[in-house]
Amino acid sequence: MEKTDIAVIGGGIVGGSVARQFALERPDLSVLIVEANDEVGVEASANNAGALHSGIHEGHGSLRSELCVEGQSAAVEYCEEHEINSFRKTGMLIIKSAMGSSEEWA
Ligand SMILES: Cc1cc2nc3c(=O)[nH]c(=O)nc-3n(C[C@H](O)[C@H](O)[C@H](O)COP(=O)(O)OP(=O)(O)OC[C@H]3O[C@@H](n4cnc5c(N)ncnc54)[C@H](O)[C@@H]3O)c2cc1C
Repeated sequence: MEKTDIAVIGGGIVGGSVARQFALERPDLSVLIVEANDEVGVEASANNAGALHSGIHEGHGSLRSELCVEGQSAAVEYCEEHEINSFRKTGMLIIKSAMGSSEEWA
């Protein structure tokens, strides 16, 4: 194996994002993604519900909620910039019962 400056373990959305950021910010360094599968992005990142979360479930004013809002805008901006048209802005309907259960539709 060739020598590399930075090794990112795991080629899911998180590893891919970290590697991309390193490559953008430190083009002088080499970045290698080490993935256990033959392909990247085939685990949770490829098998989720595909929702860009609004942050509504994360607790008002929490860091997670703030990051959802920021991340959602960044993801939409990225898709538009790169002409990725396979996303839809559907919004989400949440109905909460007085007993505490809730149903969601995207
Ligand atoms: C059913 C389900 C639905 C979800 N729905 C949504 C949703 O609608 N919206 C949303 O934002 N999030 C959703 N999530 C969460 C989201 O999918 C995860 O938070 C996200 O994919 C995690 O990304 P990751 O890169 O950390 O993990 P992964 O995509 O699992 O990537 C980790 C990678 O690391 C590799 N790996 C692990 N150990 C090693 C090792 N030792 N050496 C080399 N490689 C290794 C794995 O093979 C894998 O490819 C959902 C999750 C699930 C399970």
